[in-house]
Amino acid sequence: MRGSASLQHCSRKGFLQVKQFPFYSTVVLFAVLALVTSAFAQSSPQRVIIDTDPGTDDALAILLALNSPEIKVEALTVVPGNVVAAQGLENALKLVSLAGRCDVAVAGGAQHPLNQKLITAEYWHGQNGLANIELPASKCKADPQFGPDLIIELVHKYPHEITLIPVGPLTNIALAVSKDPSIAGLVKDIVIMGGSITGGNVNGAAEANIYNDPEAAAIVFSAGWIVTMVGSDIGERTLMTRKQLAQIQTTHGPENDFVAKVGEFYLSRAEKNGYPGAAMYDPLAVGTVVDPTLVTLKEMHVDVETKGEFTRGETVANRMGANEKNVLHGDRYVIEGYDYLKPNARVCVASDADRFLQLFISRIKGK
Ligand code: CA
Repeated sequence: MRGSASLQHCSRKGFLQVKQFPFYSTVVLFAVLALVTSAFAQSSPQRVIIDTDPGTDDALAILLALNSPEIKVEALTVVPGNVVAAQGLENALKLVSLAGRCDVAVAGGAQHPLNQKLITAEYWHGQNGLANIELPASKCKADPQFGPDLIIELVHKYPHEITLIPVGPLTNIALAVSKDPSIAGLVKDIVIMGGSITGGNVNGAAEANIYNDPEAAAIVFSAGWIVTMVGSDIGERTLMTRKQLAQIQTTHGPENDFVAKVGEFYLSRAEKNGYPGAAMYDPLAVGTVVDPTLVTLKEMHVDVETKGEFTRGETVANRMGANEKNVLHGDRYVIEGYDYLKPNARVCVASDADRFLQLFISRIKGK
C-alpha cells in the first residue's frame, strides 16, 4: 500500500509539471532530447580493452575491433596462451601497426598462468601464432606499463565506460581485479571469450582459455561483476566457411589480404580436423560488443571447477538458478527445498552466425 501511495504522489506531481508546459514546448523538448541522445550515441563509441593471446582468431578479433566505429580500443593487453608472452606482444604490436593504429596502447602482462604451466597452441595457430604469416616489423612501440596495471588505470580514468574483452586465459584480468577489486564495480561490462556450457574444446569438459588458467578464471567469475560469457560452444556454431573466405578474397588491402591468408590457414586446419568451418571464437566476443543483438544471452550462475579429475577448467553453469538444500537430520540429509543463487554471468546461448559473418566481412573488406 505504501508503495502504491507514493507512486500516485509521484504521478500526480509529474502530471502537474507537464500541464504547466504548453503542448508545443513539450514536443520541442522531446525533439531536442532525442537529437542530443542520438548525437551522444553516435559520437561516443564504447571504450574497450582487449586482453589477448594473439593467436589467429585473436588477430581477426583485433582487426574487427579496430575497424568498428561503435567501439574505441583504448588498449591491447597481452597474456600468454596461444603463444608465449613475448611472441604475443610482438604479434599485437604488428597487428596495430598493420592497421595503422600506433595510437592504441599495447602492453605486455603476465608471463605465465597463476598456478600451472603454460600450454601453447602453435598446433592450431602456426609457429608464430599468426598462421606463419610474416607481417612487416611493427612501427608501434610497446607501452612500458604492466598490462594489469594499465587495465586498472584506464578503468579509473573512464569509470563505468570501459568494456573489458578478454579473449585469452584470464590471468591478466585476475591479477588486475585481485590488486584492485574496485574495478569490478567500475567497468561498464566484461565480455569474455571462454568457457562452454555444453562440453569443452580441450577435452570433454574444458574450453582452452579457462583450462589454461582455471584459478584466474575462478577469480574473475567471483569478482562481483556480471561476466558476459561467449563460450567455445557458440563459437563453434559461428563458422567462417569457404563461401565467406571467398568473399574476403575478392577485395584487397593490407588488412584484407592478411585476414584472407589467416582465414585460409585457419580454415584448412579446421577442415583437416573434421570441422566444416573455422570457429570465430574471439571475433564473436568483439561482435557481441559491437552489436549485442547478434547473440542471445541468458543469466546464470557459473562456477569454475579447479579440482576435478576430469573437469578441471570446466565452467559449471547452474541452469536452475538454485542448488538443492540438503539439511542433516541424524544420520542422513533431508532435502528441504532450494537455495537460490545470484547470477554472476550472462551466458551466450545462441548467435546469429550469418549476420555476424557479414558484419565481420563488411568491416574488413578492402581495408
Ligand atoms: Ca585468444
